[in-house]
Amino acid sequence: MINFPRPNIVVSKCLGFAKCRYNGDTVLDYVVDQLKPYVNYTMVCPEVEIGLGIPRDPIRIVSEKNKLYLYQPATKKDITEKMVSFVDKHLSSLQDIDGFILKYRSPSCGINSVKIYNSYNPDARSSAGAGFFGGEVAKRFSGLAIEDEGRLKNFSIREYFFTKLFVLTQFRLTKKQRQMRELVKFHTVNKLLFMAHNQTKMRELGKIVANQEKLNIDMVLNKYESTLYELLAKAPLFASWINVLTHAFGGMTENLSKEERKFFLNMIEEYRDERIPLSVLTKLVLSWAVRFNNEYLLEQSFLNPYPKDLIEITDSGKGRNR
Ligand code: SF4
Repeated sequence: MINFPRPNIVVSKCLGFAKCRYNGDTVLDYVVDQLKPYVNYTMVCPEVEIGLGIPRDPIRIVSEKNKLYLYQPATKKDITEKMVSFVDKHLSSLQDIDGFILKYRSPSCGINSVKIYNSYNPDARSSAGAGFFGGEVAKRFSGLAIEDEGRLKNFSIREYFFTKLFVLTQFRLTKKQRQMRELVKFHTVNKLLFMAHNQTKMRELGKIVANQEKLNIDMVLNKYESTLYELLAKAPLFASWINVLTHAFGGMTENLSKEERKFFLNMIEEYRDERIPLSVLTKLVLSWAVRFNNEYLLEQSFLNPYPKDLIEITDSGKGRNR
C-alpha cells in the first residue's frame, strides 16, 4: 500500500467548516469532505477576517476608471483597502502550501466567473472576473493546484486537480531533502505521468536532473520546480493518455494472450469515446504489471497518482470538459 504524503490545502471556510456565508449559511461540499482524511486544511474566510459580521449585507466588486473596488451596497461602505491589506498579509504568511479549494463566484474567494459590476448603479451590468482573495491566490501561487468547488464537480477536473496536488506535495518534500538522488527518484517514478502531461517539458526536466552544467543542488531544485509547474499547468489531453497507456501496454504484450490484447485495444476505444474513465484503463495496466512483476511500471505514479478512495468520486460524473 502506498503512503501518500498529506497535501496542505487552503480552503474557503464556508465550504462545510463554519456558517460564515453572508446569510449565516455553510455549503457542504462532497469533494472537500472526501479529501479530509488525506489532506491538512487551513480554513480562511476573508470577509469575516476583515470584520464583516455574520450575517452581513452582501458585497460586490465594482470596476471604475480601470480600478476594482469592493463595495457593500446596503451600507455604501468601501472595503477595498481592508480586503487588499488582509489578502496581502494572509497570503504572505502561508508556507508549504500545495493547493487551494475556494468558493465559486464569491467576490472575495472566487477565482473566476465572479461578477464585476461596471458602476455603483444598483442595476449595473456585469462581466466576469476574479474575486479579491481568489484572484491574488491565482497570481501569487500560479504553479500550485488551485480550483473552486464549482469546477471540482467535473470528474476530469477533479482527476487533474488530485493528481497535480499529490505530485506537488511529493515534490515539496523531495525539495526539502536537498539531495540529488531523491530528485532522481522523484523524476523516475513520475516519468510516464509527465509524458502524459507534456513531452517537451518532461525532456527539459530530464536535462535538469542530468545536470550537465554541474549546478548546485538548490539551483537544480529551483529550475526543476519552475519547469514542473509549467509541465503541470494543463491537464493531459486524453490522446496523450492513450499514448502513455499504449507505451506501458507495449512492454507487456508478449506475455498477454491474443484475447487480452484485443480486450485492451477495445478498452482504449471505449476510453476514446468517453464511455469509460481513465482509471479503468490504469487499473487494467496495473493488474498486468502486478501479474508480471513489472518493477518499472509498478513504481510509476500514473498508476496510483492519489489515494484510491478518491477514485470513487473521481468517476462519479461524466464528461471531459475542462
Ligand atoms: S466565500 Fe470566502 S469570504 Fe465568502 S463566506 Fe465563504 S469563505 Fe467567507
